Amino acid sequence: MKAAVLTAPAEISSRPLRVLDRPAPTREQGRLLLRVRACGVCRTDLHIVEGELPPRLSNLIPGHQIVGDIVQGNTSLPVGTRVGVCWLGGVDGTCWYCHHNMENLCDSPAFTGYTVDGGYAEYALAREDFVFPLPQRLDDLHAAPLLCAGIIGFRSLRVAGVKAGERVGLFGFGASAHLALPVLQSWKCEVYVSTRGQKHRLLASHLGATWVGGETEKPPATLDRAITFAPSGDVVVTALASLRKGGVVAINAIHLDRIPQFDYDSLLWGERQLRSVANMTRSDASDFLKLAAEISLRPQVTVFPLSEINEALAAIKRDSIDGAAVIVL
Ligand SMILES: [Zn+2]
Ligand SMILES: [Zn+2]
Repeated sequence: MKAAVLTAPAEISSRPLRVLDRPAPTREQGRLLLRVRACGVCRTDLHIVEGELPPRLSNLIPGHQIVGDIVQGNTSLPVGTRVGVCWLGGVDGTCWYCHHNMENLCDSPAFTGYTVDGGYAEYALAREDFVFPLPQRLDDLHAAPLLCAGIIGFRSLRVAGVKAGERVGLFGFGASAHLALPVLQSWKCEVYVSTRGQKHRLLASHLGATWVGGETEKPPATLDRAITFAPSGDVVVTALASLRKGGVVAINAIHLDRIPQFDYDSLLWGERQLRSVANMTRSDASDFLKLAAEISLRPQVTVFPLSEINEALAAIKRDSIDGAAVIVL
């Protein structure tokens, strides 16, 4: 099979992923073999490829937003079923977090396309209890970005404690935020978007944001909740400065440049909360995919062939993609 393989992390400009011929994986106990149809490209892949996340597997195939057809299945998931595979590729089921309904924080998780091979390949293996049958209304291209960008964005709204009708700020407007916005609109929230890049601001306006401004611009209204998507600590401080008392900032970033020093008295006192968003649970995935089908969520998508995976990641790094990038196989 053709697969994009990371031999050693390096700057994306040096094209560290190489498309090679590799033997297709063979089925293992408890895993399903999938023929990959499409795989979404995520900023986390960039952190893996450039080494900001330490390497965990040599000759890794990244990619964790997989849409695939089952080619070797089981009785409940037969051959031909179209499923999605997400970042959380498995948990131990035995640790304290798994026993307390927090499998996103499992002590021994498997991460698709990081600790196990992912979907930038013609075939992939996935744990049979970590695949999600996809509603027919979601086609391959538009389902792929939902599987990380969408689910993690949805989880961020849950972590921030968003309630119907509230004022919510989205700081950064890439793949995840542009999927969170229609979810918030379906909950009748006012959505304030601060982001860099004229194209991202135009997309946010086009999607009906209540207000759109620059990257570290404070929205004109006090926010109940804010979610930061940019990997920048300055943006986190701007988000905090926009909150009402008792409000919450949820940081949706697996890696931040740093957190700058900030004034506790004016920014955090008053029971404001700063929380990070880590991974996802299976119920986040199934609840979100159900909602996405109900509200006909359609990501804005830019398509790349597997041979241009380095270019797709470079475009994410430059912030030059509207919405999400998807590799089609
Ligand atoms: Zn991701
Ligand atoms: Zn666990």
